[in-house]
Amino acid sequence: MTNAVVAIGGNAILRKGEAATVENQMNNLRRTCAPLARMVKEGYGVTLVHGNGPQVGNILLQNEIAREEVPPMPLDVCVAQSQGQIGLMLQQAMTEALYKEGISRTVVCLLTRVMVDPAGQNPTPSKPIGPYYGSEGLERLRLNNWTISEDRARGGWRRIVPSPRPLSIIEGGAVRSLVATGEYVVIAAGGGGVPVTKCHNHLCGVEAVVDKDLAAQVLARCIGDELLIMLTDVDAAYLDYKTPIQRGIGETTAAEMRTYLEQGHFAPGSMAPKVEAGVEFTSSTGHTSIITTPELLDNALKSKAGTRIIA
Ligand code: ADP
Ligand code: MG
Repeated sequence: MTNAVVAIGGNAILRKGEAATVENQMNNLRRTCAPLARMVKEGYGVTLVHGNGPQVGNILLQNEIAREEVPPMPLDVCVAQSQGQIGLMLQQAMTEALYKEGISRTVVCLLTRVMVDPAGQNPTPSKPIGPYYGSEGLERLRLNNWTISEDRARGGWRRIVPSPRPLSIIEGGAVRSLVATGEYVVIAAGGGGVPVTKCHNHLCGVEAVVDKDLAAQVLARCIGDELLIMLTDVDAAYLDYKTPIQRGIGETTAAEMRTYLEQGHFAPGSMAPKVEAGVEFTSSTGHTSIITTPELLDNALKSKAGTRIIA
């Protein structure tokens, strides 16, 4: 049995401009879970990591808007909240998809912490979260004292927060044990995991959002998986993206991909961490990494679509 870690993009759960309702998110998740259930049917072991960019930003915003009535929670607690709410929706959608394939398997969601680099505790904000704002909303963003950045590809401004690098998964051993039984589909390290760092003799939360693709590759290596899949809203990683000469990358080696990364083909905070995660996973394990959409997953597994990074 091939065990795979599949990272699902936060933007594949909630698309730009869509209202963040449970219905919209469940519908997107149902579309994503159908090919994942087919993977399980074909005999793959599947561990799911999900993004939380849009959702964790919304939770933070809810806390800030309600601050006069209810004490606001810090960002690390908001990440844990997002693991709960997205984890539940994913559990429900995945259970439904497995049922349709005639598979009875329990979907388990594990609240997961991730150890981050203490030196990088206050990195410059780089991770976009929450809603997209048009130029008319910019004044409000400035009033809130947020650090913001423009997402040219999707057209809009977003709040950005610190995003330290993940070093290890605190609950990695527990995930490995659950996966080894072959009885569960495990959801772990949601939203990149709740960032923690060592303080004295305990772990304390860090107010940041870890990139889920980087966390997924740390998790995949920790549990000894043979495949890393990153599902997003573009069919492949592109060279010269959004220019007249853009071209999709098919099968390529980790070394080649690292060169493209260094040449600056991939946007920081979005495609760059996926490519980085893939290069890191494939070069350290010799196993394949895939970047594609949920719709193209079946074909990507047969080497017919998506970006495939090989050793
Ligand atoms: P996710 O929620 O799936 O992690 P991201 O926004 O982080 O989504 O990353 C996917 C986005 O990366 C795509 O929607 C695309 O606009 C952007 N992107 C930036 N550079 C590239 C590139 N070179 N090739 C493909 N997509 C790119
Ligand atoms: Mg992302």
